[in-house]
Amino acid sequence: MSLPEVLAGIRAAEERAGRAPGSVRLVAVTKGQDPDAIRGHVLRYAALQPGGFPLGEGRAQELRDKAAQMTGPDWTSPESPGLEWHYIGPLQLNKVKYMRPVTLIHALEDVRQAQALADAAAKWGRAPDVLLQLHNGEAQKHGIHPQDLRSVYAEVVQTGLNVRGLMVMAPDLGDAAAATEAARQVFRDAARRAHDLGLPELSMGMSGDYPVAIESGATLVRVGRSLFI
Ligand SMILES: *Cc1c(COP(=O)(O)O)cnc(C)c1O
Repeated sequence: MSLPEVLAGIRAAEERAGRAPGSVRLVAVTKGQDPDAIRGHVLRYAALQPGGFPLGEGRAQELRDKAAQMTGPDWTSPESPGLEWHYIGPLQLNKVKYMRPVTLIHALEDVRQAQALADAAAKWGRAPDVLLQLHNGEAQKHGIHPQDLRSVYAEVVQTGLNVRGLMVMAPDLGDAAAATEAARQVFRDAARRAHDLGLPELSMGMSGDYPVAIESGATLVRVGRSLFI
C-alpha cells in the first residue's frame, strides 16, 4: 500500500457510505518514521488532499525533534505548505511543553491535561484545538468513560480550549469478522455521542479499520503503517 492507495480506499468508503468526497481527511501517522521517509511517503503527495496531510505523532520528544528538523520557527514549512502537526498519543502533563508545534491534540482525557495545555498556550500565544478521547469499553487504560463525557467536556470548555470533537480507538480483538463488528459498535457509539454534543470532528479508524470508521462517520482517519509499506 501507499498513500494514494489509502486515499482511494478512503474515497471508496465515503462513496459506500453516501458521504461527500473529501468529507474525510487523512492524518498521516508518522511516529517512528524519519524525515526522509515522511518526505518520500507522505509529503510528496501533499497536493492530493486540500491543505495537505497533517502529520500525526504519538511520542512527545519525537514530535519536538521532528518539528525542529522539518519545520521553521513558526512550525510551518516553506517547501511543504500546509504541513501541520497533530499529536495522537496520550498527553503526559510533563510533556505538554513539547506540544507547541501542534494544531490538534487528538486524545485529551481530563481537565488537568486541558488546564496544563491552556496555561502553556497562553504563553505561546496560540492554542491547539483538542479532541476528547472516549474509552472504548475494553480493557483499555485510556479515554473518558461515557458517563463522564459531558462533565469532562464542560470542564475542558471552561479552560478556553476549542473542543472540536471526539477520538476513539477500536478494541484490539483477534478474529477478523468479530473485530470488525466490535469496531463498528464502538465507532457508531462515538458518532452518536459527538452528534449529541454538537461536535463536528470524529477521529477514528487506523490502517486495519478505517473503512468501517468512515462508514460510521469518521471525519479524520489516523493511518500509519499502510502508508509506509
Ligand atoms: C500508531 C497509531 C495509529 C496508526 O496506526 P496504524 O495501524 O499504523 O495505521 C493511529 N492512532 C494512534 C493513536 C496510534 O498510536
